[in-house]
Amino acid sequence: MKEKIQKLEQEIKEALSSVRTQEELEAVRIKYIGRKGALTEMIKSIKDAPPEDRPYVGKMINVLKASIEGRFKQGSASGAPVPAGKPSGIDSSLPGAKFDLGSKHPLTQAIDEICDVFLGLGFRIVEGPEIETEYYNFTALNIPDDHPSRETFHTFFLDVAAERHERTGTDHKALLRSQTSTVQIRIMEKEEPPLQIIAPGKVFRPDATDASHSFMFHQIEGLMVNKNIKFSDLKGILDLFCKEMFGKSTETRFRPHFFPFTEPSVEVDVSCMICKGKGCRVCGRKGWLEILGAGMVNPKVFEAVGYSPDKWTGFAFGMGVERIAMLKWGIGDIRIFYENDLRFLKQF
Ligand SMILES: [Zn+2]
Repeated sequence: MKEKIQKLEQEIKEALSSVRTQEELEAVRIKYIGRKGALTEMIKSIKDAPPEDRPYVGKMINVLKASIEGRFKQGSASGAPVPAGKPSGIDSSLPGAKFDLGSKHPLTQAIDEICDVFLGLGFRIVEGPEIETEYYNFTALNIPDDHPSRETFHTFFLDVAAERHERTGTDHKALLRSQTSTVQIRIMEKEEPPLQIIAPGKVFRPDATDASHSFMFHQIEGLMVNKNIKFSDLKGILDLFCKEMFGKSTETRFRPHFFPFTEPSVEVDVSCMICKGKGCRVCGRKGWLEILGAGMVNPKVFEAVGYSPDKWTGFAFGMGVERIAMLKWGIGDIRIFYENDLRFLKQF
């Protein structure tokens, strides 16, 4: 009986391997597992086998039948001629399945590119928490208690208990940081100068969303502290950065401005990379684009972190990553960065 089953199995395998069309496959099916097929007859004869062999023989026949039925299903489902000698259905001559490679988000690319310029100048990347307190976001940065930026329509305050600032023993409300300048304070509290850091990260402001505003965006903050750091150092480094970022022919312009945490403070413009300074729609016909704020660290900020303003000087700067990415790639609407539209993302 066992030999008969094995012989039949071999016979069926050979018959299947020579099958080339759907009709031939059907003929094989009828011959072996049709109503009067050889395998069907064999199932009927299990009862004639010695009782002790029946479970084993039954199992062998069932396994064989299941595998052959599977093979017929496969052949008829595809409706295609069955390739000879390849019952597994794998055709190594077919082209492989194509899959798309991912790429970095344009904002990540912009952050990497900006950071690379400063890493080359000896800066190091640091990070700080997105959930902050009023102390780090305002107080230590010399932003007075009655400053309008501390109001709820300029800052997301969090509905949690106030947090005590260890060193000063004062309590401060929790908030989502509205600027990455918070990281300057956290690093200066922990480390002694000289310092050369950049801090990329997300910031949050309750602005209505439109083509140039978002309630969340990215900033990169920079800080350099050492002995005898001068305004000319700030100018040199930021001018070099702008040329690396927007091209060698880029010109920079430093305009006086006011920030509570720097004194003196400036806004930095670059010559418009679209019209090359002639004036166009993007630069509002001015030929210049504002891209960052900067200044010499206010001695009051040094006092807040326990540095002696007589011993150390430094400069700080901050820039919006989205704005730089929009200028660099000519993107007209900030919202497109957050929509995850593959038609947009695939261009980078
Ligand atoms: Zn222009």
